[in-house]
Amino acid sequence: MGRFFDPHIHMYSRTTDDYEIMSKAGIEVIVQPSFWLGSPRTSVGTFEDYWEHMISFETQRSKEFAIDHYVCLSVNPKESTERPLALDALEAMSKYLDRQRVVAIGEIGYNLINDLEDELFQLQLDIALKKDMLAMIHLPHVNKKEGIERTKSVLKTKNMLELSNKILIDHNTEETIEKTLELGCWAGLTVYPVTKLSPARAIDIIEKNGVEKIMINSSADWGVSDPLSVPLVAREMKKKGFSNNDIEKVTLYNAYKFFKQSPNFRWSP
Ligand SMILES: [Zn+2]
Repeated sequence: MGRFFDPHIHMYSRTTDDYEIMSKAGIEVIVQPSFWLGSPRTSVGTFEDYWEHMISFETQRSKEFAIDHYVCLSVNPKESTERPLALDALEAMSKYLDRQRVVAIGEIGYNLINDLEDELFQLQLDIALKKDMLAMIHLPHVNKKEGIERTKSVLKTKNMLELSNKILIDHNTEETIEKTLELGCWAGLTVYPVTKLSPARAIDIIEKNGVEKIMINSSADWGVSDPLSVPLVAREMKKKGFSNNDIEKVTLYNAYKFFKQSPNFRWSP
């Protein structure tokens, strides 16, 4: 098999056995965005401990399996409506942004699509702008069409469409992929056994939209998910006759090209 990059995986919720199989399957580098832990937080301290855990502990744990690990920091969309906690957490986040493993703000964006989420999304885009950082934007699981439209209008208001090369929009489907690529942003396709794309759907999307700026990820987390989604898609693409070059783009090089724009991203193929 080849060499792979999983640009969206929540190792916080995975076991060391997963690191073992990922490493054997050829995954060499991963990015772990901030996610919702599965239950509501009650204090700023839990955000800080979580960010520190990812930056320190997960980086070390993955290193033992020869996997290079990077982190995106955010107050997740699901957590943005709890006030004043979300705003206090955002303030606390500033002291972690310059840490060595931190390569982007993310995931940010909409979940239910409401004004409170909107406020926190915009505040976090402002941080990315001010610090000249990459941004990983999450599309909602329902109402994706409205999600991408609102995301577009926010990016437009902030004059961020000129910076589209520094923005990754994730969890695309057939409904959103054209719009994401039209904006000039990088596009994530999440291959996840039940609720998101199957390998076949992801490959269909790639067939229709080409391999430029598209990257496959697993978004593996607490749910029924597969930390080997990236190598799995590579294998299925190979069976369908895609060239090695095209396969490498969506399973390694595009993610590399996006993240290497961060000065903290040191891995290279
Ligand atoms: Zn995620």
